[in-house]
Amino acid sequence: EVYADYAATTPMDGAVRKALLEDDGFGNPSSIHRAGKDARAKIEKARRGIAQLLNASSSEVFFTSGATEGNNMAIRGVANQYVRPHIITTEIEHASVLNTLRSLDADVTYLQANADGAIDVDELKNSLRDETVLVSIMLVNNETGVMQPIYEIQEALSEHTALLHIDAVQAYGHMRVDVKELGADLLTLSAHKMYGPKGIGLLYKHKDVKLIPLITGGGQEKELRGGTENTMWIEGLSLAMHQASDAITRRSIREMQIKEQFLNLLTQSDIPFEVNGDVNKSASHIINIHFPFAEAEFMLTALDMAGIHASAGSACQAGTLNPSHVLTSMYGESDRNRQSIRFSFSYMMTDEEVEAIVTALEDIYGRLMR
Ligand code: PMP
Repeated sequence: EVYADYAATTPMDGAVRKALLEDDGFGNPSSIHRAGKDARAKIEKARRGIAQLLNASSSEVFFTSGATEGNNMAIRGVANQYVRPHIITTEIEHASVLNTLRSLDADVTYLQANADGAIDVDELKNSLRDETVLVSIMLVNNETGVMQPIYEIQEALSEHTALLHIDAVQAYGHMRVDVKELGADLLTLSAHKMYGPKGIGLLYKHKDVKLIPLITGGGQEKELRGGTENTMWIEGLSLAMHQASDAITRRSIREMQIKEQFLNLLTQSDIPFEVNGDVNKSASHIINIHFPFAEAEFMLTALDMAGIHASAGSACQAGTLNPSHVLTSMYGESDRNRQSIRFSFSYMMTDEEVEAIVTALEDIYGRLMR
């Protein structure tokens, strides 16, 4: 069995799991007795540490149930302050951004991605209007791994009042995520993409940014997100972030080696393939490959039977794969969008595992071409 779908989710780190088993963070952090105070202290310690990692202050970090909630909080929290606001995003965002925007009564400009997988910043500049309130762009695309030109985007927005929301889910642990460097007003992260638990994440919100809360309740998270805090998972998120940050160079170098080995082996094989997007612009852990003539659905099933876990960009609905919206943005309507597979790697993978993926691909392709 080879798992090569780490962009979908990662297993929980052993040290994170151990720490969580040792301490269930029992008290209600809002209680004024000792048990409550202990839980509150844990949460606030985690918040301070996380804020330091992001170069933010602790009053700017809000815990959420993950990036889907964080993205909803950021987008709805801004948009709901206006009547039919103008918002700019890209065609290649995650569903939690795209479907949130589609559900709003908003005027949304969707920027297309180029064949390299990145947007054109001039198009962003041309789309900006005086009344644009929000620009929502991901740092690393979850299907192709391609990084968006965030510094140019920041520059394009420097003279404008529009807020910048960055979905940095696929970036954290693979590259520096510093909210000031990135010029983020809002930024979202999720623990389960970085060897932390599922169902916990965070929203960074610059102190001057006002949001309308999505979940009202007992006033937790400075009235921005009601509900008793998930002390245990907040600790898990914090631990996973610290570990990822401490090991960032070692992990990302290993991921790059794996990606290089994978591409070298593919090149040496008889399998025809094209990389989707510009590999030189992509994060260390994701690669998306077009296999001409091979439907992704067939490939994924055959790979699964060979014990290899990979994925196509889009979610599987009732057994049929939709063409990827990301690849459609990059290449237009094309067979390529149904013939592409995402492999996403971990620093924990061995050379033998990478070889096993390519061997399985050779076998499947051999049968397909016969
Ligand atoms: N944004 C991106 C880029 C993602 O890859 C994901 C996870 N697939 C999400 C948001 C949603 O994160 P979560 O699973 O924490 O809701």
